[in-house]
Amino acid sequence: MVRYVGLETMKQLVAAVGVEPLLVGLTAAIEADFARWEAFEKAPRPASHSPHGVIELMPTTDGTHYAFKYVNGHPANAALGKLTVTGLGVLADVATGYPLLISEMTLLTALRTAATSALAARHLARRDARVMALIGLGAQSEFQALAFRALLGIEHLRVYDVDPAATRKFVRNLRGRGLTIVEAATAQEAVAGADIVTTATADKRHASVLPPEALRPGMHINAIGGDCPGKTELHPDVLRAASIFVEFEPQTRIEGDIQLLAPDHPVTELWRVVAGAAPGRRDDREITLFDSVGFAVEDFAALRFIEAQVAAIGVTVLDLVPDLAEPRDLFGLLDGGAAPPLGQPMVTTSLPAAWRAAKAAIALPPSASG
Ligand code: NAD
Repeated sequence: MVRYVGLETMKQLVAAVGVEPLLVGLTAAIEADFARWEAFEKAPRPASHSPHGVIELMPTTDGTHYAFKYVNGHPANAALGKLTVTGLGVLADVATGYPLLISEMTLLTALRTAATSALAARHLARRDARVMALIGLGAQSEFQALAFRALLGIEHLRVYDVDPAATRKFVRNLRGRGLTIVEAATAQEAVAGADIVTTATADKRHASVLPPEALRPGMHINAIGGDCPGKTELHPDVLRAASIFVEFEPQTRIEGDIQLLAPDHPVTELWRVVAGAAPGRRDDREITLFDSVGFAVEDFAALRFIEAQVAAIGVTVLDLVPDLAEPRDLFGLLDGGAAPPLGQPMVTTSLPAAWRAAKAAIALPPSASG
């Protein structure tokens, strides 16, 4: 039985649970899996680059479950009226190899990315942080804002996007949620007075969305948009000024903003802070930076979380895996017992017209077609 969670089911789940409670639950699920990081199989994700963007596969397993996400990153998609990031995920049972769940992961990636950002900030931002600057107000942005409200109590936002339409959309979507939103004319203006800075821009180049002179002691930077070779958001001096935390170092060295630094520049994997194996923020003047690229364990945790949420409600089940009385009789699934001799039509009369046309279009080799 393969459960299917499409956009409609995900929307219903978010509506039923509430986006902020869902983000809190998701953060707890990710935190629990980060705390047992060493149980997971890990490798940098295989990425297929093209002039248009990147398509990536993100697999991992804890020995009991296996999960992977298909995800893309196409910054130029906005000009085509399409999303920059879309995804879908599969959760499977290691003991049998059977898939258990197939889920949309466009909404779920935005939710899990925001949850991971908030998780990092809970360990790295100053406890008295009250104001967040948000640079880049695209698809991820509202989720980021709500995760920081739900998990850190951030209610004051200072926001900036190069595209005023993105700012209007952001303000419209978050109206009536009790957030104070100040629209800034520049990134530097947005960052002035902020305790936390989230950068969520999409641009396939080495950008510098946060000027080094805007840094202040004690800031926490949550940088999610630099996540691909040749696609970074932060000036190297911003990176050098900060204590840097990453998800999985071998992958972030390739994809994160730290690709701009020497390969031995010190970084700390976030799971070590979560597990109590490394300190997070050391004092109120330290600048901390979460160089987020997104790692498979977050998607694994998100898929397991969603599986648990939908287990109790009847979601669509896909007929992807045969349920056979005699598992070796896969051929029997085709009603092969009633099959006519080679070359004779098989139940043609009951085929709908479209299928008959498709059958006629299949060019069989002479030996098979008789
Ligand atoms: P999006 O295309 O919907 O939004 C990006 C926004 O950034 C746009 O509104 C654009 O106008 C704005 N922007 C571009 N350059 C800017 C600049 N210099 N200053 C201010 N604003 C600027 O993309 P999205 O889905 O919101 O994703 C944002 C980024 O996060 C992407 O780079 C994506 O690859 C990345 N991402 C990372 C993770 C992760 O786990 N770290 C997960 C999902 C997405």
